[in-house]
Amino acid sequence: MAENIRVRLAPSPTGKFHIGTARTALFNYLFARKFEGKFILRIEDTDKERSSDDYTKDILDGLRWLGMQWDEGPEINGPFEPYFQQEREGIYEQYTEQLLEQKKAYKCFCSSEELDKERKDQMARGEAPKYSGKCRHLSESELRDHEAKNDPYVVRFVVEPQSVIVNDLIRGEVQFDADLMGDFVIVRSDGTPLFALTNAIDDSLMEISHVFRGEEHLPNAAKQILLCQALNMLPPQYGHFPLIFNADRTKMSKRKDPVSVSDDYKAKGYLPGALVNFIALLGWNPGTEREIFSLEDLIAEFQIERVGKSPSIFDPEKLLWMNGYYIRNSMVGEVAEMTKPFITDQEILKAAAKDPDFFLKVIATVQDRMKTLFEAEGLIGFFYQEPEYKADILIAKKSTKERTALALKLAEQAITDLKSIAADESEVALRSAARNNDLKDGELLWALRASLTGQEASPGAFEMLEVLGKAECLKRIATARKKLSALKASK
Ligand code: GLU
Repeated sequence: MAENIRVRLAPSPTGKFHIGTARTALFNYLFARKFEGKFILRIEDTDKERSSDDYTKDILDGLRWLGMQWDEGPEINGPFEPYFQQEREGIYEQYTEQLLEQKKAYKCFCSSEELDKERKDQMARGEAPKYSGKCRHLSESELRDHEAKNDPYVVRFVVEPQSVIVNDLIRGEVQFDADLMGDFVIVRSDGTPLFALTNAIDDSLMEISHVFRGEEHLPNAAKQILLCQALNMLPPQYGHFPLIFNADRTKMSKRKDPVSVSDDYKAKGYLPGALVNFIALLGWNPGTEREIFSLEDLIAEFQIERVGKSPSIFDPEKLLWMNGYYIRNSMVGEVAEMTKPFITDQEILKAAAKDPDFFLKVIATVQDRMKTLFEAEGLIGFFYQEPEYKADILIAKKSTKERTALALKLAEQAITDLKSIAADESEVALRSAARNNDLKDGELLWALRASLTGQEASPGAFEMLEVLGKAECLKRIATARKKLSALKASK
């Protein structure tokens, strides 16, 4: 692509950084990087009541956390600043004035009651609701009259009947019948401009080459093309991504579904790389069976032509699997560092600071079983504290209290005699102890492992021995033997 590629993300800070916005951001970012263009961040905060600085911060933090640094925008600015639409209001006013002067827009004084009635009557007649255009035809004196009385008004854009064609890079050619739109509002009665207007203006002024966004904005593209024509501006090329659905084909909802990048993913222990990889596949088809892509890989492989039209299904199980994959494939030191913020037990944190090597060994033991960083605390607690558990978990399936008592006694003996606690040596000693005494290996290893971890599912006995060390293991086996003998009935 020879032209200057400039794409933008235009989030409204009226809620936390949404997973759908993250996908829009990612595809824009990849497109910009691939063609060595610019990725611009422009905050659409024209709705002053619903916009907040906290949400803006959440969006900026979320983009950075996912690794998508913008080239122009908040905090870094750039040649087309300001990048907050609230600070650009004068610009929108100027263009609105121009449209009014050229009679391409007009002030509409219709009250909401009037408009409601009009809509209801149209629907009763089986017509699609559309503004009648009444105020388009106000005489000069009627207009002056309203203005003299300071009557509230909205600004409407004059839409002439015509067919508007959006040559969408993803959806192909889409035709809109402008006659169905009616003269749409571009400035509200409180003076705030609507986003179809502000984005049409800014996309042009900021020399945006491509606008990629969610499919819900496709009808807005038609409006923006008309606005650009009226403003004598060149519209960008548009591309609209498919909607994201839940597995049950319902639309993802802000209230019910986990859509907040910071609360539902970052805070729950997902890795940014896993999330980026996962959202890349929401709509983009690499054309092969390959599923694992780093951000760098994506920059190399991404093609907008391979973004499909059909809705993407958000499968949380797949994301969890992918996150586990990224955890397993990270360096243990990295996982240890990433895990720390998720540990709430101060004793564990203190111990980890005091003995970082032990903490690393502990993490290495559970790394393969972690699907999220959040799960770590539950998996490692027993390395730092003698576990609480009920004695019956010591008894393996099909074993008995007596055989388990023997197993623990033998394990205690074998471990006491061990010269080295290395997993390969303890394995030989423990398996022989079982076999020489007519116990199944599994019976002995189950009892031992349960005595060390207090859990029915946990890392293996030999690994635990190695990490915990001889003295701690013997202490735990002694506790287990006591617990077992206090257990009343034989299983
Ligand atoms: N603020 C809109 C949104 O977050 C973006 C509109 C646009 O990209 O033009 O959906």
